Amino acid sequence: MTVGTTDPMTRTIYLANNLKGEFEKRVVAHEIGHAVCFSYGLLEEIHRCCHKRHWIDMEEFICNFVADYGERIWELTKDITKVPVYLERLVS
Ligand SMILES: [Zn+2]
Repeated sequence: MTVGTTDPMTRTIYLANNLKGEFEKRVVAHEIGHAVCFSYGLLEEIHRCCHKRHWIDMEEFICNFVADYGERIWELTKDITKVPVYLERLVS
């Protein structure tokens, strides 16, 4: 069952009508992962890094990784790079 797909030619994301909540968010993130791959020419990099028989699996793995861990990585990045308030006061 397909719940979402991205047309690489039109760069349009199509979603099933019955998606809701966290699952909908995961599917949207996964499909945006595909759109980013198409838009930034990343498929060539994927193809360069693995055997042709794994191209689709690798692209799906990357899009699942983005959907499953992308938000958490971004949160951790913000936490780690956040300047403590007491240091901001010292600088300004
Ligand atoms: Zn996919």
